[in-house]
Amino acid sequence: MSADCPFCGIIAGEIPGRIVHETDTVTAFLDANPLAPGHTLVVPNDHHERLDDLSEDLASDVFAALHRLTPAVEAAVDADATTVAFNNGSAAGQEVPHVHGHVIPRFEGDGGAPIHVVAGDRPDLADDDLDRIADDVRDSQ
Ligand code: 5GP
Ligand code: ZN
Repeated sequence: MSADCPFCGIIAGEIPGRIVHETDTVTAFLDANPLAPGHTLVVPNDHHERLDDLSEDLASDVFAALHRLTPAVEAAVDADATTVAFNNGSAAGQEVPHVHGHVIPRFEGDGGAPIHVVAGDRPDLADDDLDRIADDVRDSQ
């Protein structure tokens, strides 16, 4: 637990939260400042900042909760779809440094955008560049 982390506070019961799912390893609760009705956050119970700080087992538990909750959230608010995403690191917009997956209900004509818009200007990469990047990713695992 991290003393000044709001999500650790919710999991510990020290900060009020609208908890919608709880296991030994993962908790989900409604976002306090929702982008849409039903906006839900799925978090590991232990404080970890980024996805790569999670063990594979814990990452699997987080994904299992997302898999379970996404249709439940859609049904609860009668959504047409969901955007499911992580801001993974401050440069990507992560404000709370405790891993959390967003489940954001989406509605036909809601005025929102697809995830393609989040990364700024699209790079112009040649085939050679793509080949080299693919090699680097394979070598980095
Ligand atoms: P981030 O930008 O880190 O991906 O998103 C953080 C999210 O946490 C925001 O959508 C924000 O509304 C939500 N949030 C921040 N503090 C609290 C809190 O104390 N309780 C709840 N339920 N949500 C919070
Ligand atoms: Zn925390």
